Amino acid sequence: HVVTRFAPSPTGFLHIGGARTALFNWLFARGRNGKFLLRIEDTDRARSTAEATEAILKGMSWLGLKHDGDVVSQFSCAKRHAEVAKTMLDTGQAYKCFATQQEIEQFREQARAEKRSTFFKSPWRDADPASHPDLPYVIRLRAPREGETVIRDKVQGDVTIRNDQLDDMVLLRSDGTPVYMLAVVVDDHDMGVTHVIRGDDHLNNAARQQLIYEAMGWQVPVWAHIPLIHGPDGKKLSKRHGALGVEEYQAMGYPAAGLRNYLARLGWSHGDDEFFTDAQAIEWFDLDGIGRAPARFDFKKLENICGLHMAASDDAALLHELNGFRAATGQPAFTEQKNELLLAAMPFLKERAKTFPELIEKAAFILEDRPIRPDEKAAKALDSASRGILRELTPHLQNASWSRADLEHLMNRFAEEKGTKFGKLAGPLRAALAGRAATPSVFDMMLVLGRDETLARLSDAAK
Ligand code: GLU
Repeated sequence: HVVTRFAPSPTGFLHIGGARTALFNWLFARGRNGKFLLRIEDTDRARSTAEATEAILKGMSWLGLKHDGDVVSQFSCAKRHAEVAKTMLDTGQAYKCFATQQEIEQFREQARAEKRSTFFKSPWRDADPASHPDLPYVIRLRAPREGETVIRDKVQGDVTIRNDQLDDMVLLRSDGTPVYMLAVVVDDHDMGVTHVIRGDDHLNNAARQQLIYEAMGWQVPVWAHIPLIHGPDGKKLSKRHGALGVEEYQAMGYPAAGLRNYLARLGWSHGDDEFFTDAQAIEWFDLDGIGRAPARFDFKKLENICGLHMAASDDAALLHELNGFRAATGQPAFTEQKNELLLAAMPFLKERAKTFPELIEKAAFILEDRPIRPDEKAAKALDSASRGILRELTPHLQNASWSRADLEHLMNRFAEEKGTKFGKLAGPLRAALAGRAATPSVFDMMLVLGRDETLARLSDAAK
């Protein structure tokens, strides 16, 4: 029974790397009838904020990564973490250390001078409890001094760390608060986590965490440390190259399904498949498909994938998401009537739009009201000769049946009569109907607008 988790620290927004980690955990669990849990690692009280937790929850919800069960707050489990440290004390897997900060510093200085390992070796490790003073103490792990610890990582392979490279880490501070490393292990164990999938910046922690699992006799989870996301230049991901919060991607107007698809491909692959549905990703996702080289973030690819998702979306669902985009970016909602027209136009609006702002730009002929104000380019297409042609065309349209075939036929014949091609008419018509030079097809627009509105706009423009 598979259980994964996403364990962000609420110190900022949900950045794109975190979103990808969450997505991998979600895909892995969903494809195995497992559970995907969410734990907020809020033990760092100074840096954790409620706003950050809110941003993480919102970002996940927008990305469609629904977690199972309640959100776990790590801080609220502190008592349990301390209990585990005490248990380890009882079993001898941990010991009380009374060394002062000053003593530890002295040890390190001397070790440096003698070019020995500066890991603190506490004199209390083997002290007789009867000799314990009545002073503040920390609880330290009695880490093995010999042998090695092997992390069997599904992505990185076997990673071996000599145990003399691992110190007797503090588990519980002298004020009774648990350290982060203990909290993670206890929480993952208590939550029944079977697979830990996270950024490889945590690979070093895994060795120490594994020692705690072993000391408690707990089942070590399957580790999968995924390479971080880099910029297109192969360097650490910068803001300019995409190191942004998920809400910024939402604000840029990428459809969530497109971002999910793109993020899934960032570091994981399934043959040559670039464009896929959630159902396919869930079916295909596995740890073997995660690469060992850092993935490179590429806005062009993201846009291409988003364009494909837009085109493949259900019209009503896309309209719903468009309205969500408006709300999330603080723009006024569309009226009922505009929504109806948008829905009617969606089959062609969604073609070749990669973001919601692009979709909105294509929908300008719907969203703008009469009188349509032509932009600079459109105004040029409405010179006096063109306005004359629009005036001549009008009576033909008044009697036309408003079907695509008839409109096309009528317009071509009219162009022929004028000794020109329909292409020459298109510029003034686009300008009159949308106030722009680049628009959806003239017929598409006329059919959505209907006869009255079309004629009214032509008459406005022909004045
Ligand atoms: N809270 C850690 C982070 O945000 C993740 C720890 C983990 O996944 O084990 O980087």
